Amino acid sequence: MSQTLKAVRGTRDLLPPETALWNRIEATARSVFARYNFGEIRTPIFEDTSLFARGVGEETDIVSKEMYTWEDRARAQSEKPQSLTLRPENTAGVVRAYIEHKLGETGQLQKLYYIGPQFRRERPQKGRYRQFWQIGAEVIGPPSAGSESPLRDAEVLEMLATLLDELGITGWTLELNSVGSAADRARYNDVLRAALIPVVSHMCQDCQRRAETNPLRVLDCKVPEDQPIIETLPKIADCLDEDSKKHFAQVTAALDAAGVPYHLNPRLVRGLDYYTRTTFEFTHGGLGAQNALLGGGRYDGLSEAIGGPKAPGIGFAIGFDRLVLTLQAQQSEQAAEKAAAYIAPLGENMNAAALALARELRRAGLTVELGDGSFRLKKSFEAADKTARRIVILGEDELASGVLTVKTFSTGEQTKVDRTELAKLLLAANGM
Ligand code: AMP
Repeated sequence: MSQTLKAVRGTRDLLPPETALWNRIEATARSVFARYNFGEIRTPIFEDTSLFARGVGEETDIVSKEMYTWEDRARAQSEKPQSLTLRPENTAGVVRAYIEHKLGETGQLQKLYYIGPQFRRERPQKGRYRQFWQIGAEVIGPPSAGSESPLRDAEVLEMLATLLDELGITGWTLELNSVGSAADRARYNDVLRAALIPVVSHMCQDCQRRAETNPLRVLDCKVPEDQPIIETLPKIADCLDEDSKKHFAQVTAALDAAGVPYHLNPRLVRGLDYYTRTTFEFTHGGLGAQNALLGGGRYDGLSEAIGGPKAPGIGFAIGFDRLVLTLQAQQSEQAAEKAAAYIAPLGENMNAAALALARELRRAGLTVELGDGSFRLKKSFEAADKTARRIVILGEDELASGVLTVKTFSTGEQTKVDRTELAKLLLAANGM
């Protein structure tokens, strides 16, 4: 007997009515981004593996453990196979596109947003999937376009606060930190490496390796036994130079002026190597262990790290799946939207006329469900009651007279309506 096929572990199908919520979130995000003058970018879902190795960082969990990578052999025999990877995040792809299309030469700030699936081989749990969706944006450009300004950081954070508010997400917290410039981080890495020497033998295997290769990543460790040791390590705030301190102070001053609340979190270093200066997360208590709704930060050296010109930038990625979970928890039992009308043809010879009537109503902008003439009237009523607010009965008499019977389920009221008036009546009843 053949085994039943199922969606692969860590992936899932999104079905109606839940997809309506996904679409509403997407529409709100597009509307907010448009008001801040962002345009959409769509990059491929797979890229050359070295983009992520160089862009995200070899020592990050993402690159060292979580990528879906394969050797692409479908090339000429003379060529070496190319290593390809399903994108685990989208910033590296956007910056690659920025370099490839010489967007820096416009001299303008590029404000780009994306919405799409990302892939990481993580242990699946609530709010953590192997295929998940992100809504993200990047502000990137040559320094002459103002891309290094702390105002850009503050504007992005203010936009995120606006987006979460417009989505109706309540109770979020903005966690904010600065990881300093590349030089500050190098200094901090040295300080950390030294501080780890006496304690690292008591830490997990991953931390022992990271202490050598990339001590900053020790701060990402989630092993509970390691947390008390991590608490005692020096903080990055003590390693920031004057410029980084000034930049951060200007970000927080602009947030204060705009009335965006935040919480300073000196441990927030984020799990990707490319961040410099401002880093942030928006968290939500309703999400449980995976409480980060979104994360982001500044990446002033990323373009150069992958072979491009100097192009400082700042961006974020929102976990789309987690926005949906948060809103579902808030709205508890969101009522599925019902169709405006269900058309019930009486007898199979009424099917064609029913399709014509449905076409009329749908063209008027109404959501219409179409029954089938093979159904008995009782079955039509039951089906209609589940999917629509009203049933419209179409038999030979109705077709000939042009007067239709309409029943409203919520009130039980049944009326005769002239066919020419039907669309208007249904539109009015739906507040349209
Ligand atoms: P990151 O790219 O790791 O900074 O993640 C940005 C956001 O994407 C996180 O705050 C999460 O909301 C979301 N995210 C990251 N990994 C996953 C995953 N495996 N499943 C669902 N959402 C995720």
